[in-house]
Amino acid sequence: MAKNLVLVGGGHAHLVTLAKLEAFRERGHVVTVVQPSENHYYSGMGPGMLGTTYTPEEIRFATRQVVEQKGGVFIQDLVDRIDPVARTVFLRSGRTLPYDVLSFNSGSYVPQTCVTQDKGDIFSVKPIEKLLQARERIVEWADQEVISIGIVGGGHPPLR
Ligand SMILES: Cc1cc2nc3c(=O)[nH]c(=O)nc-3n(C[C@H](O)[C@H](O)[C@H](O)COP(=O)(O)OP(=O)(O)OC[C@H]3O[C@@H](n4cnc5c(N)ncnc54)[C@H](O)[C@@H]3O)c2cc1C
Repeated sequence: MAKNLVLVGGGHAHLVTLAKLEAFRERGHVVTVVQPSENHYYSGMGPGMLGTTYTPEEIRFATRQVVEQKGGVFIQDLVDRIDPVARTVFLRSGRTLPYDVLSFNSGSYVPQTCVTQDKGDIFSVKPIEKLLQARERIVEWADQEVISIGIVGGGHPPLR
């Protein structure tokens, strides 16, 4: 019997499933991928993009294009809430999605509840698109004066 498979996030952990998406389609299943951006940025290359070694286009994966080419449904949205009893996903847009099987790989995020005032020049590593904003801001500002940059966390991956 055909099932409804919903994938939340089209990042690293779902890439193999996306690569084999047609195998689900061939068996009659419906595969829906929810992600806030049409592209997924490869985090491992994020520092290289921040350091201008790569352009944003060089470090991203065309999620919508791949999903649609392989016969899946792509929804550009954020998952806000899940009702496991009703097997329903609630999206930020107000839309709801029923599922038979739900796979959740939405990565990590940097909580910013400790920032109580203006978040103006604070950039988190995730989503990786934020690194592009950081890069633009640093380049623009450092061009005008000597600036101080604070880095919170210096673990893996190594800074290049
Ligand atoms: C700079 C850097 C380097 C790294 N290097 C390594 C490494 O060398 N080796 C290693 O094993 N790991 C590495 N990691 C960790 C690795 O990237 C993560 O463990 C991995 O990405 C997690 O996979 P994921 O699919 O859950 O999340 P991600 O690949 O982050 O994908 C999550 C996707 O879900 C989407 N999403 C988020 N919230 C929602 C929501 N509410 N609704 C819908 N979609 C949502 C996001 O937009 C994103 O597209 C690195 C991380 C960083 C930041």
